[in-house]
Amino acid sequence: MDEDASLRADCGRCAGLCCIALAFDRSVLFTADKAAGEPCRHLSQADRCMIHAKRAASGYAGCVTYDCQGAGQLVTQDLFGGRSWRDCADGGRAMFRAFALARRVQHWRALLAAAIGLPLTPPLARRRAVLAARLAPAAGWTLETLERAGNGSAGEMSDFLKALRTVTPRNGPAPPASPH
Ligand code: SF4
Repeated sequence: MDEDASLRADCGRCAGLCCIALAFDRSVLFTADKAAGEPCRHLSQADRCMIHAKRAASGYAGCVTYDCQGAGQLVTQDLFGGRSWRDCADGGRAMFRAFALARRVQHWRALLAAAIGLPLTPPLARRRAVLAARLAPAAGWTLETLERAGNGSAGEMSDFLKALRTVTPRNGPAPPASPH
């Protein structure tokens, strides 16, 4: 089980970013289409879901299962000081871009956290620790460092996850499957 609170979504500290930045298609999970960057019709002016308690019954089951793994509050609070995308001169474009990068980074962090439970060789354990430290900088994120980490770590993450295929779990969880 993940014990790191920074990897858990905290919607109360987010400006509803997943409800705007992400696209969805009409399907069993969503009753309507929505383009990326377009606010969901059920999002209030205060960036809260107006059908939160009845999302599945209203045709938005995909929202119930979606997990940003803490990317929403990372961007809203740590990078934009708690502001809403509505108050940004660019209409939120920079926030949505940061959200895409933060989702990637938080997903990698969750995979690296899961790998702690595997019987890693010392070299693999060192690689895991280096990547984990890079993806959780002690000084916090800036837009520039998030951009660099989100774009610059994909190859190393992919290589690390491929290397995990050589690790045989004892009684722990199976190795993470994918970097994306
Ligand atoms: S239904 Fe609610 S949670 Fe889902 S995208 Fe719309 S506003 Fe967000």
